[in-house]
Amino acid sequence: MDATTIDARAWAERFIAEIERRGAELTELDRRAGDGDYGTNLGSAVRRAAANLAADGADTPGAVFTAVSNAFLNTGGTSGPLFGMWFREFAKALGAEVTPKALSEAAGNAAAVVQRLGKAEVGHKTMVDAMVPAARALAEAAERDTDVATALREAATAAHEGAASTEDLLARRGRASYVGEHARGVVDPGALTVAWFFDAATG
Ligand code: ADP
Ligand code: MG
Ligand code: MG
Repeated sequence: MDATTIDARAWAERFIAEIERRGAELTELDRRAGDGDYGTNLGSAVRRAAANLAADGADTPGAVFTAVSNAFLNTGGTSGPLFGMWFREFAKALGAEVTPKALSEAAGNAAAVVQRLGKAEVGHKTMVDAMVPAARALAEAAERDTDVATALREAATAAHEGAASTEDLLARRGRASYVGEHARGVVDPGALTVAWFFDAATG
């Protein structure tokens, strides 16, 4: 792929395919520290996202992320609305083109919205633990004026590190917080999903 452009639709389609392929792993994490419905919730969200993308022509990044956002907003569980609001900020900031500057704005606003709605800080063992470092990596990449593929690879690395950091934490938010010490040793599936989303950007 040309490092100067990212095809938002292909990005969304790779993300959808990855969730369909690996949803069971996410469910298993939520089963060990939660209620075991996460992969199912996410599976219905991405199926709805695929249908929205097919129905709408979705030929701009704004339209692609609006289709994805609406799918998540209409999905149950705690994660559905939170991801719906997260993707909505990508739809708003990316508009016509995926650039490091627009990505930095999108990811910064998106992480802030999720933190506000979920009342979660970094270290509470949620999706926020991957969203915040990814946003920081994108801000730094935009500052250095890197190409967009490099920016997104750095975001993916930061999100993976954030997701891995949740493994040893006790949960302070969500159902995983009900199981106390049982959550230790389990990566937060929401944080892992954020890392897979950024992986999907560059294939
Ligand atoms: P439910 O707990 O309603 O079954 P899901 O299984 O759909 O929710 O989603 C669980 C994921 O949601 C967790 O892995 C975590 O990343 C995220 N999450 C839960 N509560 C919060 C919160 N308050 N703020 C941010 N993310 C949260
Ligand atoms: Mg659950
Ligand atoms: Mg549930």
